[in-house]
Amino acid sequence: MLQFYSTNRQSSPVNLRAALLAGQAPDRGLYFPREFPRFTCNELAAFARLPYHEIACRVLAKFTEGIVPPADLAQMCTAAYNFPVPLEVVNFRTFLMRLDQGPTASFKDFAAQMMARLFGYFLREDGQHVTILTATSGDTGAAVAHAFHKIPGIQVIVLFPATEVSVSQRKLMTTLKDNVRTVAIDGKFDDCQAMVKQAFTDPDLRHIPLSSANSINIGRLLPQSVYYFYAASRVAQAGEPVVFAIPSGNFGDMMGAVVAREMGLPIRKIVAAVNDNDAFPKFLATGDYQKIVPSRNSLSNAMNVGHPSNLARLVAVYGGQMDETGKIHQPPDLAALRRDIFSSSISNARTVTGVKEFWDQYQLLLEPHGAVAWQGFQDWTTTEPLGSSPAVIIETANPAKFPEEVERVVGWPPDVPTNMLASLRLPEDYDRMGADYETFKHYLVQRHAA
Ligand SMILES: *Cc1c(COP(=O)(O)O)cnc(C)c1O
Repeated sequence: MLQFYSTNRQSSPVNLRAALLAGQAPDRGLYFPREFPRFTCNELAAFARLPYHEIACRVLAKFTEGIVPPADLAQMCTAAYNFPVPLEVVNFRTFLMRLDQGPTASFKDFAAQMMARLFGYFLREDGQHVTILTATSGDTGAAVAHAFHKIPGIQVIVLFPATEVSVSQRKLMTTLKDNVRTVAIDGKFDDCQAMVKQAFTDPDLRHIPLSSANSINIGRLLPQSVYYFYAASRVAQAGEPVVFAIPSGNFGDMMGAVVAREMGLPIRKIVAAVNDNDAFPKFLATGDYQKIVPSRNSLSNAMNVGHPSNLARLVAVYGGQMDETGKIHQPPDLAALRRDIFSSSISNARTVTGVKEFWDQYQLLLEPHGAVAWQGFQDWTTTEPLGSSPAVIIETANPAKFPEEVERVVGWPPDVPTNMLASLRLPEDYDRMGADYETFKHYLVQRHAA
């Protein structure tokens, strides 16, 4: 059975089930596979003829072997991935992969839909109940709430900064009801996150089984490797390396590509494009890691992350060790990192130009996150010629999630997908409180007793 170790190396390795239910390792490190199962060239070549959910099943089966029976996994994948994954031609062999057709119109659905099913499956096995606590700056909360909605044995509590999420982001969370509770906090995202973190370590709450669903959970990371396999199977010949340009915040999406590569997918370059939160490109350039506190506000707001926690995993893949605070105990192989990964920081001005130029040149609509990826890709092509390599730009959200930003640039509002329209019409129901831990703790205790 595959083992997952903690990047802080103080906790014992565990299997996927334990890693998923725990979220973070007891030593505050992140769980990661000890070694990666690999695909043969023939196995990868066969993906060209498979639909998305079957590729998901073959990739994830490598991690769930001995834990989830193949038939159950297949059923989960079919139910989770019942929406299209468009690959639009930009020019020649460059494509735009839209990961925005899921229930909440952001790429976070790919991970949340699968993780929720695995969670539900493991809990059902031993009749457990759990409360998922999550803090969100917008997209995560919506994806997690939708994914766990009505899953037996699970209560969901989502904290979001009252005035820092868009109306559509809020409605995607607050209209669900049933086992999903949303709480608007009069504070910033960092306050929400701090309250959630404190609850996890609070001895007074030990009687409440709490779990997290944020992007540090290995159950969110692994499903994010699948769309790289899928894209390569559609745009490249068997064995032909692909360039991926990925808009990055907490680096979970980008780590999905690293996982795919470790499993044998040929990748020519991973372009990790960030907004003004440029700790990673600076680290890549200098070897010196300085997290950004507080994080900087940019147009691509789902990527306003000053210290991407998944860097601990990236550093581990390259032989180093970084703890949860960003301190490097053992430097990674920087030359190898630079060979495999390119990173650049895209300003708000260039983000806006990206949306505009992409529309003018290709009549394809981007929103700010996808525009960051596009501009990062442009930066990379000034460092080495693309040649005839296939390239895939990742668009992580639907333009309709950023209607004002998009309209300002192209002059008209983007179409709203039907799944979003439905949520926008339903009545909202959520709680509200100050950014005060004691109040929140009381709230958790009362809800647990109820
Ligand atoms: C979360 C998010 C990102 C960043 O993904 P990470 O895995 O945190 O790097 C990019 N775009 C959108 C729309 C997101 O919601």
